[in-house]
Amino acid sequence: MTGKTAAQNQEWLDRYKKKIILGIVSVMTLSIVVTMFYITCTMRSRLIQERGVQAEELGIVLHSSLNYLMEARDPGKMQNTLVVIGKENPAIVKTFIIDTKGKVAYSSREKDIGATIDRFTDISCKGCHSGPVTVPHDKTMTVTVDGKRVLRHVHIIENQPSCHRCHPADVRINGKLVIDSSLEPTDSLIRTVILIILGSSLACLAVLIPFLWWALSRGVNTYIDEIRTKSAELLILYSIVDRLSATIDFEELKQIIIEIISEALGADEIDMVLPNEYRELGVIVWAKDKSAMQRKKVEVASALHDIIYAWGEGRITEHVIVNEGKEIHMPVSKGDNRLALIIIRSTSGVFEPYQLALVRGMANHISVAFENALLYRMAITDELTGLYSIRHFRQAIGKRYSLFHEFGEKMTLLMIDIDNFKKINDSYGHPAGDAILREVSKCILSSIREPDLGFRYGGEEFAVILPASDIPAGKVVAERMRSLIEHYPFKVDQHVLKVTVSIGVASWPASAESIKELIAEADKALYEAKHGGKNQIVVRASKG
Ligand code: GH3
Ligand code: MG
Ligand code: MG
Repeated sequence: MTGKTAAQNQEWLDRYKKKIILGIVSVMTLSIVVTMFYITCTMRSRLIQERGVQAEELGIVLHSSLNYLMEARDPGKMQNTLVVIGKENPAIVKTFIIDTKGKVAYSSREKDIGATIDRFTDISCKGCHSGPVTVPHDKTMTVTVDGKRVLRHVHIIENQPSCHRCHPADVRINGKLVIDSSLEPTDSLIRTVILIILGSSLACLAVLIPFLWWALSRGVNTYIDEIRTKSAELLILYSIVDRLSATIDFEELKQIIIEIISEALGADEIDMVLPNEYRELGVIVWAKDKSAMQRKKVEVASALHDIIYAWGEGRITEHVIVNEGKEIHMPVSKGDNRLALIIIRSTSGVFEPYQLALVRGMANHISVAFENALLYRMAITDELTGLYSIRHFRQAIGKRYSLFHEFGEKMTLLMIDIDNFKKINDSYGHPAGDAILREVSKCILSSIREPDLGFRYGGEEFAVILPASDIPAGKVVAERMRSLIEHYPFKVDQHVLKVTVSIGVASWPASAESIKELIAEADKALYEAKHGGKNQIVVRASKG
């Protein structure tokens, strides 16, 4: 993943978190506003209602005590009573009695006495009277007096039989007792409640926003990490497919598989077990610190032998992590066809279970590549000996030549010819000759290393390409091969035959400047070996 992409991801992540937090904060703010509005309206009307009830009760009590003073015709005490009540009850702004003409007869605020309240013009009457009616339509209301909102309770002083001494019997109302209470305590209570709600909500948001930011970062980062892992896996798989499809050459494919497994899983050692086809493969082993693949015979009593045995019997079909996370068994198969068992080891760390998904993906792609390579190998393999065919020789040597040319590597070619083979055919028959050809091929293969390639060049003639090898190395291999064949007990019918080979060795760039020259030089060397008495090696160490 590039730095730019990572920065873009972070930017996207921050935008995403901001949006979520903004959404949550908006919903919370809206609910706080709705709650405050609800509390303001309902609390206020409830409190006012309650104050109204209190005022009414006060009105009833006051009226009955004033009634007595009215009957006693004691205006002084009546006035005094209103003053005392106003003083003793701080919530009461003023209490006054008005007669039927709206004139203030008594008041806790003495300066108001004598004033006339015109219900058509006086603003404070609008709460009670909505028109030219004598009886107020409501007894409790809020009005503005001297610029302040007050709760006004109007208590009607009705004409009762005891009043008939002073008031005509047909008059229904004698006056009104008005009690104005301050709304300040109610408003202050509401203000306090709102301040508490607002304060606690802001404190809550102050804690909530950093918490949400942290929680979202954690949650989203885990999610992003998962996506990153998956996309990294996909990229690896994509590159695996890309690299696997770059070749159908079985030898190259093995190298590529080793490389991609070691890179993708961080493996330090890989063993690759291939089905025993035309040669006893044993195991191809690779270790990070040695880099080149090697072929190794498996010891019968070893743990690896048991694993291979279990795989061969079809008991290892799943990809598993074993040996305390240090080893992965990766069976590669196509249907019932077991193509390979790859044992992946880590000496420096442990494999994690999540890596099995990648192993599974790799195994699928490797199986396809293996199958294609095996089909291709069948097409380029000599049927009798199992070695590569002459058709593949020119292609392979050309490919290796350009590769080594590019990297400045050396390459040695061996040309091998069975001595006096015609005699074998003549003496024991053609099928016996075929059997000898097969046995000699096995000897050739068991004398060479993993990256070396063996070909059936002609009837009883073979070629071996030794990549990254010079003349001395080629000489060692040729001698090993010659000696092995010379001492190998070739069995024909009941007889044990002695077969020998002559080998010509030439190397690039020491003995030739081109492939054509290299082949010609190796051929010349072989010719010299034949003429020199057979069962020997001739090396063309210099050009021409
Ligand atoms: P020299 O030591 O000089 O190489 O002698 P030679 O007899 O090995 O060489 P020559 O080229 O005279 O004979 C090669 C023989 O190999 C001739 C041919 O019948 C035999 N041959 C070629 N291909 C096959 C094969 O596929 N099967 C069998 N059985 N014989 C084969
Ligand atoms: Mg021969
Ligand atoms: Mg020959």
